[in-house]
Formats: sequence, C-alpha cells, structure tokens
Amino acid sequence: MASSTSRPLRTLPFGAWGLQLERPLLIAGPCSAESEAQVLATAQGIAATGKAQVFRAGLWKPRTRPGQFEGTGPIALEWLKRVKESTGMLTMTEVATSDHVDACLKAGVDMLWVGARTTPNPFSIQELADALRGVDIPVFVKNPINPDLQLWLGALERFERAGVRRLAAVHRGFSWFERTPYRNSPMWEFPVRLKAAIPELEILCDPSHIAGSRDKLGGIAQQALDLGLSGLMMEVHTDPATALSDAEQQLTPAAYGELISSLIFRQAAPTAPMRDRLEELRDLIDQLDDEIAQKLGTRMDIAERIGDHKRDHQVAILQPERWERVMRKQLKLAGHLGLSAAFVNEFMDAVHRESIRRQTGDGHEGPHASTEGSQRSLSNGLDS
Ligand code: PEP
Ligand code: MN
Repeated sequence: MASSTSRPLRTLPFGAWGLQLERPLLIAGPCSAESEAQVLATAQGIAATGKAQVFRAGLWKPRTRPGQFEGTGPIALEWLKRVKESTGMLTMTEVATSDHVDACLKAGVDMLWVGARTTPNPFSIQELADALRGVDIPVFVKNPINPDLQLWLGALERFERAGVRRLAAVHRGFSWFERTPYRNSPMWEFPVRLKAAIPELEILCDPSHIAGSRDKLGGIAQQALDLGLSGLMMEVHTDPATALSDAEQQLTPAAYGELISSLIFRQAAPTAPMRDRLEELRDLIDQLDDEIAQKLGTRMDIAERIGDHKRDHQVAILQPERWERVMRKQLKLAGHLGLSAAFVNEFMDAVHRESIRRQTGDGHEGPHASTEGSQRSLSNGLDS
C-alpha cells in the first residue's frame, strides 16, 4: 500500500514514547481554547472523570470559511501550562505553520497534532516537518479532509523522514459530497488500509469530527475500539452550548466521562485471535454495507431529480447511449477491481430498475420489477 518510492515507516508504539501512555489513549478537551476560565474549568472537569491522559485545545483554528472564531492564538499557551500544572494531564494543540511549532516548543506543549485541512498540503507538511527536524515531540497526523490515503501516508512519511518517531495518525472522517448521517463520513476502510500499510502505526479515532453531533459519538467511538484503533480524541467543553466552534459535537466533561464508561474496551485477546479478527472483519463489512445503502439512497434521489428535470423540460426519457456509456464505464472499473462482469451486470440492472421505479413514480416493487422487466428497461436506456 505504501507508495513504491517509500521505505517502510519507522514509528514507535505508545509504550516506547516514554510518557507512560496507556492504550487505548484517551485525549479530551475543547475544540478551541476560548478563555482561561473555559480552558481550566474544562480541564478540571475532565481530570475529575479520570478518563483522559491528554488535554487537547485548538489555539489556531483553521476555519473553512472566514469570519468565524479563529482561535485565541499564543496567549492560550499559558493556559495549557496551567492545565498541566493543575491536573497533570499532558497538553496538545494543533499546528499548521512553523511559527506555531516554535511557539509550542517554547511553551512546553507536550504533543502536537496536524489538522485535516493541513495534511493535504505537502508544502505545509514539509514546513512543519522541517521545523520539527531534530526535535523530539509526539506528532499526531489527522487524515486529509478528502478521502485520499496517499496524502495521509505522504504526510506521515514527511514527518518520519524528518526524524519524528513518536508519530501517530488520527482518523477524523472525510468530507463527502453525498448526504450521510455524519458530518464527516467514517469510511473505516481508510484507517484499516493505513494500518495494513504500516502495521506498527498507532491510529486514533476522533469521533467528534466524524459524528458532528453528540448523539452519534458513542456509536463511532465503540466502532473505533471494535476495530482495534489505538485510542480516542474527543471534544469536551465545560459549556458546549456557548462554544465558539463545533458546539453541536462537544460534550460536557460529565457526559464525556459517562460516554467513556459506557464503551466496551475489548482486550486484545491473545487466546482468541481468530474470533477477534472475525469480529473485526464483520464490523467492517457491516459498516461498508451501511455506506453502500447510503450511497444507493443518494443515487436514487438524484435519479428522481433527473426524472423531474426531464419532465419539466420535456426532454426525451429514452437515452440508450447514456446507459451504454454507464455500463461500459462500470464494466471497465469492475475489471480493475476484480469483480465479475456477470455480477456487475446484475447489480447495475437492479440499481437501474429501482431508479426507473423512482423516476416514473411506479410504486411497484418486488416481483413486479423482474429481471425480465429490467432487461427491457436496460435496453430502453432510461437515464438513471
Ligand atoms: C479540531 O480538532 O478541532 C479540528 C479542527 O479538527 P480537524 O482538523 O479534524 O477538522
Ligand atoms: Mn473542532
């Protein structure tokens, strides 16, 4: 999986970081440091739960759109020091430029993370890697905002080549154009493939940015643990309703403590490795099935819109050449993916049948929409 130009990555497991980190590693704290009082109250609340070793807070916030709270900047470095003094938790913040790195190193921040909007930019990553050359500080690299494994690997490689060995990845989901129940689609196959490419790499999950809302945090966190990820990074705020960023996904310290207590931390069971592996693979299959169903739902919505558009504009419904193009493309892709032509024909046939049902407003389902019927519809080439 690692690109052919790269040598294997050398990274250390948590046990060799010299920080007495436990696995799963639990990191908690507000999306943004907002004020000294907010930072300290949140940290004390988290410390009281006893459920986090590391306190996170963003000082420089990379906002997708301008005009939103962009962080307090370096004044909050003092607040992180006080968190460490008063709670004993290690501290961590996001860096995106070499100036951020310098400020954090001077202030004695314990760990750094690289955000999802920085990871995809090799120039930014190289700047950070150069700033960290010869500096021994743990670095956590979030996945790029777009689903591209090579960019994630590339960023990890740049840090590793700069000598960063206490290196970990954070899975925070991917921005996706389709409607999904999540703020960022989990696409679990990405951390799984990353782990396959670099087996010793510690990979955490950030359920907060995947879920985008409090109600989905528990399910995502459990899924991450079930897949054997190395820990969790979660957003916790002393008063989520007033948070200046990511208010909907932050938990109070007490709710965070309850959520962590409700999770099942499966011991890696050396006595039953087969069963663990089977469960892990089944979880992955369940997740992929959910994602396939969501994508099919989106596809049908779009097909329905095409139907409406054609009706409104009195465009011919029959466009056989369009369907031929679709099938040619699918069969070519299937060839690359090792899927049989027979399977792809059958699958696309069923998809097409359902699209037509939606486009024509035909309520008939099941036996009515027989393969025979679909053969006809396929040759009709209705736009799907
Ligand atoms: C964050 O952790 O608050 C953050 C900005 O995350 P991401 O880079 O994953 O969006
Ligand atoms: Mn956030």
